[in-house]
Amino acid sequence: MPDKTVIWIDEGCIQCGWCQNLEPAIFFVSQHGCVIRSDARRDITQSENRDERSLLRPGVLDAEGVVFMRFIADGCPVQVIKLSADIPEGVLLQNL
Ligand code: SF4
Repeated sequence: MPDKTVIWIDEGCIQCGWCQNLEPAIFFVSQHGCVIRSDARRDITQSENRDERSLLRPGVLDAEGVVFMRFIADGCPVQVIKLSADIPEGVLLQNL
């Protein structure tokens, strides 16, 4: 399951820094918003991952890491951090 995880950032990030402070290997926050780091993604692209929906690279998250990601997402003040469990059924993921 952790190797099938997709994380993306919806519109509306307020650059509070919460996610990066807790998981700097995955999140990068700048004045332009929050992105998912390229070296954490299979497509090696740094962006919000809204359009690409790239999977995380194998080994980036273990099962405990997924739980921690949910904690981070729940703590986002504007609730824009999304995990693959939020993808509606039937939507294909890239790079499966
Ligand atoms: S926790 Fe949410 S609002 Fe704060 S930097 Fe991360 S994505 Fe943006």
